Amino acid sequence: MPMPFSSIRHQLFIDGRFVDAESGETLATLNPHDNTPIAHVALAGKADVDKAVAAAKRAFPAWRRMAAADRGRILLKLADLIEANGEELARLESLDTGHPIRDSRRLDVPRTAACFRYFGGMADKFQGETIPVEEGFLNYTLREPVGIVGQVVPWNFPLMFTSWKMAPALAAGNCIVMKPAEITPLSSLRIAELMAEAGLPPGVVNMLPGLGSVAGQYIAEHPEIAKIAFTGSTATGRRIVQASAGNLKKVQLELGGKGPNIVFEDANLQAAVNGSAWAIFHNQGQACIAGSRLMLHEKIADAFLEQFIPLARSIRLGNPLDEQTEMGPLTSAQHRDRVLSYVEVAQAQGGEVLAGGGSPGGDLAQGCYVQPTVVHARSYQDRVAQEEVFGPFVTVLTFKSDEEAMQIANGTDYGLGSGLWTRDLQRAHKVARDLHAGMVWINSYKRVNPGSPFGGVGQSGYGREMGFDAMREYTQVKSVWVNVDAQIPPHFVR
Ligand code: NAD
Repeated sequence: MPMPFSSIRHQLFIDGRFVDAESGETLATLNPHDNTPIAHVALAGKADVDKAVAAAKRAFPAWRRMAAADRGRILLKLADLIEANGEELARLESLDTGHPIRDSRRLDVPRTAACFRYFGGMADKFQGETIPVEEGFLNYTLREPVGIVGQVVPWNFPLMFTSWKMAPALAAGNCIVMKPAEITPLSSLRIAELMAEAGLPPGVVNMLPGLGSVAGQYIAEHPEIAKIAFTGSTATGRRIVQASAGNLKKVQLELGGKGPNIVFEDANLQAAVNGSAWAIFHNQGQACIAGSRLMLHEKIADAFLEQFIPLARSIRLGNPLDEQTEMGPLTSAQHRDRVLSYVEVAQAQGGEVLAGGGSPGGDLAQGCYVQPTVVHARSYQDRVAQEEVFGPFVTVLTFKSDEEAMQIANGTDYGLGSGLWTRDLQRAHKVARDLHAGMVWINSYKRVNPGSPFGGVGQSGYGREMGFDAMREYTQVKSVWVNVDAQIPPHFVR
């Protein structure tokens, strides 16, 4: 099969080298545009995870002792290499995931570089404290790396999530065994290769594409892995918590969401329409923070939908490698079918399809495409207003008052991203305060930055990526007591 890229890596990356899986097994990764195979990628099993853990253990003592600034320098170099190889990484990501190339170029690649750069700079600035304790004693804290960290990421933003997970862990001095999603391993493998080029010592990062139920599960169980950081579905998150109990791993979970995006009657309507389309249709709606519940004040609902529905219908679907494409395919056929099944779920509960609801035909019939879909639900308790669809599928709900808006917005088990559109300053801050969510965007949606904490509450998980919070997640505190000139207490003195 001809490879469209000379740089495609399809082996496991263990101890600084690309190697086949011990079992020799591979899995084809498919181009979601037409479901043709791109490459057959090695599939890690338990023996490979053991090898990776052993390599990480060997690398850990020197890596944690390396001057923090030197660890940072490697991450800064990596950020430069990502930019230098940006076009190739963007194409690889679009080919494997279906991200429109314009998004991969303008968002995924720059954000990946920015994340490594931010934490490269952070490495020697994250520090312990001295604590004023009783007379005669000095007490200080050390922020130490956790050890060998397991990281499991999903398929929706493989390149970016590789950086979100690895950058703070490495800056803090941990070694990593990472498992990308089995259907989108290509950009993560290329990043591993660039890491070696940036000077990362062998064994510090090991990249193991493999099945969640095999390699992922074993990473979560592994007795020598001290922490697991996971991004994915809430159901898998629950399994990870159970698997981690054996050695009481530290656990960090970034799970699903059902983001409320609330448009009040005093909003700038044009900005809200455009922002709401971005909130749901960017990356084909495959985002945990997607604004998938579009909540409209009943006074402006009709006017809003008069603009929003034609906008949704006008979005250009197409081959992700085409610069004109605004929405690509979903990342797998299985996922496309799952998303489309929610059209029937909506209709069964009296919901009305206002736009889309199917797959496009013609040139795109072989791919995993779904039309931008807008559904009006009768109640916020309907399944399409409660369950994460994870596609270009937005559920419209209306409300009459701020109180009702809050009841609907906080009326799911999730609590991840959320947004609101209003010109009223007091209302904006009040709603931001009362939303049960890890992130709130006011008159905007879906902003992320390496310095700003990212994560959820409730069934959306716990722990935070990005910023100082991420460094806390990847370190543990040691308290050191020094007797400077204190009297020995008079107990048991002979
Ligand atoms: P998923 O849970 O099926 O898979 C995620 C990853 O977990 C994959 O690498 C998979 O191989 C692995 N996995 C599967 N079973 C496992 C097991 N038993 N043990 C260990 N690992 C296992 O999720 P998905 O469908 O790939 O991704 C979509 C989900 O991810 C959505 O629910 C979405 O909301 C969520 N997500 C959350 C965030 C966030 O930051 N909160 C970001 C992106 C996506």
